[in-house]
Amino acid sequence: MSSNDLTGFSRRRFFVRAAAVAIASGLRPAPALAADLPHLAETDPAAQALGYVDDTGRVPPGKYPKHQAGQECDRCNLYQGAAGAQWGPCLIFPSKAVHAGGWCSAYTPKR
Ligand code: SF4
Repeated sequence: MSSNDLTGFSRRRFFVRAAAVAIASGLRPAPALAADLPHLAETDPAAQALGYVDDTGRVPPGKYPKHQAGQECDRCNLYQGAAGAQWGPCLIFPSKAVHAGGWCSAYTPKR
């Protein structure tokens, strides 16, 4: 494992733990702000660390073995977008909106 791999791994663990804390504390983005959030770019370093894509159908085959067809942001427990909205907040990427049909490696199915 190179130092870059370790950095990426640590970053991913940080984001996932931060989201878990946010969920446990009931933290939610303010609805008035949610519509104004800039869209998360796939080129954003945080997005790249977690393999985020705007379209779950573009997850590189074999790169994320846990990815399955049908997994997308609006079916993720960390997604905070309104029903039917094309973009919405995500607890993993504060201050950005993710695409409802997107995916990242922190995907957690809704309970
Ligand atoms: Fe956020 Fe879940 Fe989409 Fe990942 S899959 S970007 S954690 S809503």
